Amino acid sequence: MNAPVATNRPVPRDEVMQIAAYVGGESKIAGVNRTIKLSSNEGAFGPPPAASAAYVKVAAELHRYPDGGSLALRRAIGARFGLDPERIVCGTGSDELIQHICHIYGGPGTDILMSQYGFTMYQISGTYAGARVIKVAEQGLTTDVDALIAAVTPATTVVFVANPNNPTGSLLSQSEMERLRAGLPGHVLLVLDAAYAEYIDRADYDAGVALVDAGENTIMLRTFSKVFGLGGMRVGWGYGPAAIIDAINRVRGVFNVNLAAQAAAVAALEEPGWVEASVAHNSKWRAWLMASLASVGIGTYPSEGNFFLADFETPERAAAADAYLKSRGIIVRAMGSYDLAHTLRITVGTEEECRLVAQALADFMKHG
Ligand SMILES: *Cc1c(COP(=O)(O)O)cnc(C)c1O
Repeated sequence: MNAPVATNRPVPRDEVMQIAAYVGGESKIAGVNRTIKLSSNEGAFGPPPAASAAYVKVAAELHRYPDGGSLALRRAIGARFGLDPERIVCGTGSDELIQHICHIYGGPGTDILMSQYGFTMYQISGTYAGARVIKVAEQGLTTDVDALIAAVTPATTVVFVANPNNPTGSLLSQSEMERLRAGLPGHVLLVLDAAYAEYIDRADYDAGVALVDAGENTIMLRTFSKVFGLGGMRVGWGYGPAAIIDAINRVRGVFNVNLAAQAAAVAALEEPGWVEASVAHNSKWRAWLMASLASVGIGTYPSEGNFFLADFETPERAAAADAYLKSRGIIVRAMGSYDLAHTLRITVGTEEECRLVAQALADFMKHG
């Protein structure tokens, strides 16, 4: 507790003022008409048409509260992924669920572990909860399972791993994940954030269902913001043991997922062929764009997501490339806040967008 201070202004708790506010991907460039936004890993194809139609359809119902339990949505998710709807909880984006998990299982006197280049929301939410957030060093921009296990203290309550990770794009195999779970004490909650799960087509990958089902101490988080193209709707979900889902249900916003968001998400799941087409496009154009960058001398880090890190070797050169892309109306993500200032994170967009990025970066390397 903060000591009472004699002041006539409200004073936030200390840990709140330690948090640097999250800076999302930029979306506008002053003076540029058409911008190409490749800064937030939104799906390449916009929203599924069925989701947009469902959104419009609920317009006459906006005076109604949504179903606070998101039952139709949980049933649709359960049917799609073969999961028990009773063990699914929906959130205002998976960000909301990350925040609740930190407050439920973290708090003053606890340690929350994440990897060095893990997703920033873990740090923000863990700190807000009053926990000490410990970033554990990675090897080659990949989560280090042994280092995570070694970093566990008696105070550790939660370990966050995004698989694949954002912003690095690196992936842990299922056997590495199993090794991590086995190496953590039973009371430590493992949060498997699989925001990009749909993009992965590898035999040695599981989004988290197997580990959730194998015990009482793992939760998987998923989102509609990436491959399903509904970032603006804010819908995420978690699948976990009954006791963990129960705890989250006690504290989440009562009507956390709004009426239009629930309708759009259900419809997105029903859009025929959406995920298949998105994934095929992503695999093809991610490889093409990485090869195009390599051909003009820009290195890239391997990625399993709908984005990758391009390596410009120095922060100055990355900043110059970022400015050059902006001058062409292309917005990517600068990585200074992740201590990766020599890189830029580029989302795989449409074919046209990929070609424009490749051309702009080729020109940058020649003249920039
Ligand atoms: C985008 C992203 C999320 C958040 O998704 P929302 O559901 O939009 O809150 C969570 N984790 C990772 C790793 C992400 O990249």
